[in-house]
Amino acid sequence: MNLFKDRQSLKAWMSACRNRGERVGFIPTMGALHAGHLSLVEAAKKQCSRTLVSIFVNPTQFGPGEDFAQYPRTFAADQTLLEEIGCDGVFLPEVATIYPPGGQTSVSVEPLGSQLCGAARPGHFQGVATVVAILFNLVRPHAAYFGLKDYQQFTLIRQMVDDLCMPLEVVGVPTVREADGLALSSRNRYLTDEERARAPALFRALTHAQELYRGGERDPLRLEEEARRLLLASGIENIDYVEVRHGATLIREREISTDPVMLIAVRVGKARLIDNRLL
Ligand code: AMP
Repeated sequence: MNLFKDRQSLKAWMSACRNRGERVGFIPTMGALHAGHLSLVEAAKKQCSRTLVSIFVNPTQFGPGEDFAQYPRTFAADQTLLEEIGCDGVFLPEVATIYPPGGQTSVSVEPLGSQLCGAARPGHFQGVATVVAILFNLVRPHAAYFGLKDYQQFTLIRQMVDDLCMPLEVVGVPTVREADGLALSSRNRYLTDEERARAPALFRALTHAQELYRGGERDPLRLEEEARRLLLASGIENIDYVEVRHGATLIREREISTDPVMLIAVRVGKARLIDNRLL
């Protein structure tokens, strides 16, 4: 597996791949890799002849008081996992490699970037969109793979690629979960045993809403209320949002038209947990 730390070596490898007519699939991550990340690599391997993962804990997507300093950094273990599943390259840049001094440009996707998680985390999605745009321009992949676990992020990146005519395909990959339904996340390690036992309530609330929707309930407020009730009954009191939105655009609708998604964000102890489900 090739390890790239600077722009030049990455670009040289990518040019060689392109010249050989290879299709390159790209998976941006912040590391602390788990089976959810690896499922993105597997999806890329099925559709592409080369796969490249980036590991970069992006400072611009963390707000003041958020967990940038504590965010788990497990580069050696990450590299072993990627090597084992047959990833072709890892891009592991320093902050100055991504953001050289003097930069002035950022990408904002609005209004979506200020809603849902963006309301609680001002500037977060501008940081995400900007780093992903920089990475796309450095790598110039044929396809990029994102987890549907971060549904708002996936929707926002697809919107950015569309709006800015970026020449690549954006692929969404289903959420990988623990046996009890908790979505895998690098932040699950912040949970104590007691908090971990409460955390699967997110998935149960989503499943409950899905059952009601499939039983004919079409009022988003009712669905949200039911999911909220289940969260509270399971000891999850710090609820950031529970919302039903249009599955493709994430626009809020008074009456559900088609393919809605329910999105949830809560705080459990030190962790902010998010999850979602297409109803
Ligand atoms: P992160 O390292 O948390 O920035 O995540 C990198 C990529 O992995 C993003 O596209 C995430 O949506 C995706 N991802 C994280 N957790 C999961 C999961 N449980 N299942 C599928 N994809 C995931």
